[in-house]
Amino acid sequence: MLGFAFDRGSMFQNSIMKTNHSSGRMTRRGFIETSTSLAAVAAAAPNLLTSITDAAEKSAAQKMIGLQIGAVSFVDEGTEQVLDLLQERGAVNTIFLTTFTYGRGLAGRQIPGQPFPDHGPRESDEKTFHGGNYATPHPEFYKQTVLNQTRAPDHGNLDIVADVLPGAKKRGMKLFCSIEDVFRAGVPGVQEAAEVDLQGRKTNTLCLFHPDVRAFWTGLAADLCKSYDIDGILFFNERNGPLLNALGASHAQSIASSRVTCFCEFHQKAAHERGVNVQRAREGYTKLDQFVQNSLAGKRPDDGYFVEFWRLLVEYPEVLAWDRLFDEGKHQVLADVHSTVKGIQPALQVGFHIEHVNSFNPIFRATRRYDDLAGKSDFLKIVVYNNCGGERYARFIENIGSTVFRDVPKRELLEFNNHLLNYANEAGLGELATAGLSPDYVFRETQRARAGVKGACKVLPGIDIGIPTGKNSRKASPDDTYAATAAALRAGADGVIFSRKYSEMQLANLSAGGRAVKEFLR
Ligand SMILES: [Zn+2]
Repeated sequence: MLGFAFDRGSMFQNSIMKTNHSSGRMTRRGFIETSTSLAAVAAAAPNLLTSITDAAEKSAAQKMIGLQIGAVSFVDEGTEQVLDLLQERGAVNTIFLTTFTYGRGLAGRQIPGQPFPDHGPRESDEKTFHGGNYATPHPEFYKQTVLNQTRAPDHGNLDIVADVLPGAKKRGMKLFCSIEDVFRAGVPGVQEAAEVDLQGRKTNTLCLFHPDVRAFWTGLAADLCKSYDIDGILFFNERNGPLLNALGASHAQSIASSRVTCFCEFHQKAAHERGVNVQRAREGYTKLDQFVQNSLAGKRPDDGYFVEFWRLLVEYPEVLAWDRLFDEGKHQVLADVHSTVKGIQPALQVGFHIEHVNSFNPIFRATRRYDDLAGKSDFLKIVVYNNCGGERYARFIENIGSTVFRDVPKRELLEFNNHLLNYANEAGLGELATAGLSPDYVFRETQRARAGVKGACKVLPGIDIGIPTGKNSRKASPDDTYAATAAALRAGADGVIFSRKYSEMQLANLSAGGRAVKEFLR
C-alpha cells in the first residue's frame, strides 16, 4: 500500500511472464518490446510463435472498454472486489484511474446533494475530500516547478496506482492514469502560477504559458510513466479561452465577461512574440464585457445584438487572437505531455479528453481540428454524454440566446444550431433537459470524430452513466446506457469509456453497458 517506485524494466519482465502464464494473452506493448527475442524463438519453436502472434492479433482487434474511477471507490469497496465487478458487469478491460485532480467530477464519492448509487457507503465525503496526486509524487520530477507539494491527503499514505496495478495486471486489464487540470486555492504554488484576469486580479486557475505550469504537467506525466508500469496517460483539461468564457458559450459556465483571463506577464510575452497587441486585446475584451452586460440587461444595440457582436470582432481582431492564444497554450501543454511520454517509452499511449462544449458550440468546433489533435495523441476520448447532454445543451442555448443571438427566439435558435451541428430529431427546447439527447447524437458525434481523425488515432466515446443532473432533468436508465454504448460501437468507435466515475454509477446501468459491449463483440 505504501508508495514505492517500480523499476520499469524488471517490473515489465515480470508482467510479461505473468501474462503469458496466467491468461495466455499479451499486451501490444509486450508484443513490440519482445519482438526481437521472438525472432530467436521462431527459429527454435515455430508453433509457439504462431500461437503468440495469434493471441496478439486477437488482443489488437479487441475494443478498449474503459471505465473512469477514483481512489475512494477502491478504498470504500475493496480493490480486488471492484476490479472483479467492473470486469464481470461492465466487460471493462481498461481502468482509467483518477490520479491527479482537485475536482469532484473525476474524484471523490457522489457529488454532495445527489442520490447515492447502489454500492459504496451512503455518506458524503464532503468534509474529507481534498484532491491532489493520489499516487506518490517523486520529488526529482518536480524540480522545475513551484507546484511540488500536491500529494492528496485523502487516504493517508495510500498510493492508488501501486495499489490497483497488480490486480489489474493479474486480470489482463490495462491501466491509464487520468490527470486533470483542476486546482484549488491554497495549494502551494497556485498563487505564483495563477492566471490574471481582465481587471488584474489573480484567479485559482493556472496559466498555461507559465513555465512552472508547463514543467508541472510534463513532470507529473514523466513521474507516473517512469515510476509505475502503467499503459499511459489520459489528460483532461476542460478550460476554455476568454471569448467563450465572456459569452458563457459553454454548457456549465456562468457568463463571466469581466473575469476573462489571462493577462499575466507570460501571456503578454507570448502575445508580443506573435505580434498581438496586448493593449488592443484589453480594450476589445473591455468592450465585449460592456456588450455582454448590456445584452443581459436587454439593452438592444441599434443594429441588433448579432451585428454589434460581429462588428466588435471586426474592429478588434485581437479578441479572437487572444482567444486563439489560450488554445495555443492549452494545446502546447498537450503536445508537451505527449512528447514527454513518448520519449520515455514509445509504446505508452496518450489520450485527450475532448470536452462537452465540442458537441454544442459550432464556434468552439471551429477551433478544434480532430486531425490536429490526432497528431498529438494515440486516442481521443470524445464526450458524448447524452443524458446530461440535454440539460447542458439547453443551458448553452439559453446563454448564447441571452447575448449574441438575443434577437432570435430560443426555440428557433436551437433548431438552427441543430442544423449547424448535424443533429436530427432531438427534443425541442422545452423538453430537452427532461428528454436528454438521443443515442443518434452519440452515433453522429462518434462518426464525425472518426471522419475527423482520418485514422490517425483511436476514437473512444465517453458514455454517460449517471452523470448528475438537475432535479427534473433526465436520469440515465439501463436502457439509456445500453443504447448509447451500442450506438458508439455501431458508429465504428475503437471502444468506449464509461464516465464520469464509478462512484456515481448504478450497477444496473454498468451491466447494461457491458451487455451492449458483449453483444457487439459476439
Ligand atoms: Zn497567463
